[in-house]
Amino acid sequence: MNQYGVELDSKKGYVIVFRCKRCGAIRRNKAANDDNMDLIIKLTARH
Ligand SMILES: [Zn+2]
Repeated sequence: MNQYGVELDSKKGYVIVFRCKRCGAIRRNKAANDDNMDLIIKLTARH
């Protein structure tokens, strides 16, 4: 089971949704279509 998902917002485009491993909070980050999804998750997972 993935700890994160990707939502498609009609205005913002793709939004990455993931759970912080440290505090368990659900966070969302806007993603560009050409962004590296794995890299984004690694960067945003840092609190
Ligand atoms: Zn956190």
